[in-house]
Amino acid sequence: MKVAIFSSKAYDREYLTRANSPQTFAQHELLFFEAPLNVNTALLAQNCTAVCCFVNDHVDEAVLRKLATLGVKLVALRCAGFNQVDITAAKKIGITVARVAEYSPHAVAEHTLGLVLMLNRNLHRAHNRIRENDYSLNGLLGFDLVNKTVAIVGTGKIGQVLAQIMIGIGCKVIAHDIEPNIELISKGVRYLPLAELWPQADIISLHCPLIPETYHLINANIISQMKNGVMLINTGRGGLIDTSAVITALKAKKIGYLGLDVYEEESDLFFEDNSNKLLQDDIFARLLTFPNVVITGHQAFFTREALSAISEITIANITHFERGELDQVCIAN
Ligand code: NAD
Repeated sequence: MKVAIFSSKAYDREYLTRANSPQTFAQHELLFFEAPLNVNTALLAQNCTAVCCFVNDHVDEAVLRKLATLGVKLVALRCAGFNQVDITAAKKIGITVARVAEYSPHAVAEHTLGLVLMLNRNLHRAHNRIRENDYSLNGLLGFDLVNKTVAIVGTGKIGQVLAQIMIGIGCKVIAHDIEPNIELISKGVRYLPLAELWPQADIISLHCPLIPETYHLINANIISQMKNGVMLINTGRGGLIDTSAVITALKAKKIGYLGLDVYEEESDLFFEDNSNKLLQDDIFARLLTFPNVVITGHQAFFTREALSAISEITIANITHFERGELDQVCIAN
């Protein structure tokens, strides 16, 4: 099958090409484009039966209609979340949307732990000080994680791994999910309604999908219910957080620590080297001024193991779709 791969980087080319090999019984014609998929670039998929997209490709109804006129039948996402695709429109138009439901929940959960430790022990500031020949400890005072209460919103694949990691460290884990995980309950995780979760948590980590019900889950009203000095971590999706409300809470010291791997306007910033450009996003610029904020550019998934799994599952989805084995395609819905 001829596949147009949008938003592709050198690492996508390397891993997808490796997965698309005779050893895996897959020999699709892969066309790599650095451009993101949008209504202007959709034409690049001319004569392709599938397009392969990532987290910040906007696959709305207009794009889907354009793809359909070009003969595209499959959108193969090389990621887990599918909030960037209008699934209802895709169904109406007759385009199948596949995703990678699970690749390495450990990659994201371990990165989340990295953000917690970095903030908790001020590692980002310590690193800079040492490089400046400054070995003073003022301002670097941290706190033990043991016995602290960690709230996890969304205990699916990633949230479950994080819960186990935090239990291993000696934290109390409380959680909220529309479908509580029996295994985690047996390990001592307490599921609570959100209203009871916020006031108890020392650390809050978001791992639910971005859907209409979870958009701006963290807003001014919810923040007011949190402990003073709470640590908030978001490696889920940017839209889970109202960034302006979080900035207000950081200024008031209501939020004591903020760790982000995702940002609601990240599509204009992340995955590109913008070092020669002026930063135009004033909200993001304000976030960068806080010493107690650590941001990574949507890299929580970015491990060798995860890239291999993402590429293999993406190619397998395309192969199964080509063979009409729809029951084996991981459909996004
Ligand atoms: P998953 O589907 O296994 O788990 C999501 C969990 O959220 C499920 O248990 C589901 O029941 C729960 N949920 C759904 N609606 C909810 C709601 N309203 N309130 C509370 N919980 C709700 O997904 P996953 O693989 O664990 O991934 C979680 C999210 O992490 C993805 O949706 C994606 O947005 C994000 N993600 C980020 C990165 C990254 O690199 N930063 C990588 C992969 C995934």
